[in-house]
Amino acid sequence: MGKAIRLYGSLFFVDKFIDGRDAIPCVSGNFVRRRNTLRFLQMLSGDAKYCVSTWHQIINMKKIVVLTGAGISAESGLKTFRDSDGLWEGYNIEEVATPEAWRRNPALVQDFYNMRRKAVLEASPNAAHYALASLEEKYDVTIITQNIDDLHERAGSTNVVHLHGIITRSQSSKNPNLTYPVEGWEIKMDEVCELGSPLRAHVVWFGEAVPMIETAAQICAEAELFILVGSSLAVYPAAGLVHYVPQNTPKYIIDPRIPQLHQDKSFIKIEEKATVGVPQLINELLITD
Ligand code: NAD
Repeated sequence: MGKAIRLYGSLFFVDKFIDGRDAIPCVSGNFVRRRNTLRFLQMLSGDAKYCVSTWHQIINMKKIVVLTGAGISAESGLKTFRDSDGLWEGYNIEEVATPEAWRRNPALVQDFYNMRRKAVLEASPNAAHYALASLEEKYDVTIITQNIDDLHERAGSTNVVHLHGIITRSQSSKNPNLTYPVEGWEIKMDEVCELGSPLRAHVVWFGEAVPMIETAAQICAEAELFILVGSSLAVYPAAGLVHYVPQNTPKYIIDPRIPQLHQDKSFIKIEEKATVGVPQLINELLITD
């Protein structure tokens, strides 16, 4: 157990995440975000009154949840999926993004994801990714992304949940919990995990379980403001996450072609490309409230 600190009559324990970084379980039992934890730890070395007021500002930050899809990375040069007639870079998903495809032709699947990784490494975050990162100055932001690229992280977002995995890591074809960073763009067919099984891309294929879906649903249920960017809402279970957002939570959607929404009337629609609509909304959020 870490060091205990009493503030405003509440006990906080400075403890460690399993990855070794500092974390503080707060009074509600939730873990505060690492970035805030660092700020909190810095404050501890300062004036106690200042500590308490700043700590209260931090825990009172409004929770914004952003669900992003392929559309947010389109203007970084990464093609979306639905905009290309249901093909992904010219391929049917059954050919390249299913467990059956891997069993049938692992070299083709490996090559497909190697090409996607190469494109991601060559791409840069755009104004929409950067605007979302800047939102953390004032809000408690969680980004839930369906994307397998790392453009949110490279833009500076610190709290990103990857629903469908991330292309910059590889995964054991025997145990999906064994993942590794990929050096460069290529996973070679003779590369194996510590169990001796071939490595594949760390992505969730169609027909596979989505291990982060329950965590994501819980995050959506706590949203005080919800923003959906660049998703056709055609891929389940990700598309179902919007139903977990509380009814009275303000909701925005940014997409040049707004998809069909079940709770259509509860969304404020911004029919723009991500690089226009996202910075516009974020500027408003940063100057108001
Ligand atoms: P999708 O391709 O089904 O839908 C894309 C959505 O983005 C559409 O609604 C479209 O109108 C919108 N869009 C297009 N250009 C846009 C722009 N400039 N700004 C804002 N919105 C724009 O995407 P999806 O719903 O995310 O589902 C596709 C699946 O394929 C995901 O699960 C994802 O894992 C995978 N995928 C990922 C990437 C990536 O990581 N960058 C790229 C393609 C596909």
